[in-house]
Amino acid sequence: MTTRPPLVLTVAGSDSGGGAGIQADLKAMLALGVHGMSVLTAVTAQNSRGVHGVWELPEEAVRAQYRAVVDDIGVHAVKTGMLATAPLVETVAELLADTDAPVVVDPVGVSKHGDPLLAASALESVRKRLLPTATVATPNLDEVTQLTGVRVERETDMRTAAEAVLAYGPRWVLVKGGHLPTGAEAVDLLTDGTEEHWLRAPRHDNRHTHGTGCTLASAVAAGLARGLAVPEAVREAKAYVTGAIAAGFALGEGIGPVDHGW
Ligand code: PLP
Repeated sequence: MTTRPPLVLTVAGSDSGGGAGIQADLKAMLALGVHGMSVLTAVTAQNSRGVHGVWELPEEAVRAQYRAVVDDIGVHAVKTGMLATAPLVETVAELLADTDAPVVVDPVGVSKHGDPLLAASALESVRKRLLPTATVATPNLDEVTQLTGVRVERETDMRTAAEAVLAYGPRWVLVKGGHLPTGAEAVDLLTDGTEEHWLRAPRHDNRHTHGTGCTLASAVAAGLARGLAVPEAVREAKAYVTGAIAAGFALGEGIGPVDHGW
């Protein structure tokens, strides 16, 4: 008899190009040895050149998918990604408010191509309803600015950014400094307001980074589902995504995806 793998649920949007969103989440989960399940929030028509259309699912479809998974199969960790609209953010926050499973919130705002994946009218719901449900929130620097108004121009600003996000109630925040000009290293800060972990990894000069954020958040959720503490789960996830970026490959005419098969 084989043992049951840890169970991880992603609540996110679909990327028809297979590089980000639900598709990246499920690939990362497979690569990391957990059973991936999905609650689809929106469908995007997307390729390496950008997002060409977005169709949100009704709130009741999101609620029904979530209940179907949780009431029968169960979950050991949840990851949220693209939630698209204020009603969907509110719905997901309400569902997560009484879960015992750790929750990783990737507060997805805008894609690397500059295409909006979250309505401006949903920002307040992300701040007030979604972030308080998070065991770990994983904003990049643009998302930090969008959510808190804090601009990060140098490494030391990341502490101010982290404090501003923590004020909304996540237990931990991982501020991803990948877009900062920090030379040969990509620097992230993980903190719960007491402990501080500065994570440094070699920067790979590869433009094929589509799906990086989704992959990182899914890898953190996979680690938490396996019972790791937050700092260990984040450290392992960062190592995984660094390898996936190094192996990122060209696809189509634009930005290709990170690679889960290394
Ligand atoms: N499409 C979907 C459905 C996503 O969830 C995301 C990110 O979370 C993206 C696209 C953006 O991916 P990237 O900014 O890595 O290109």
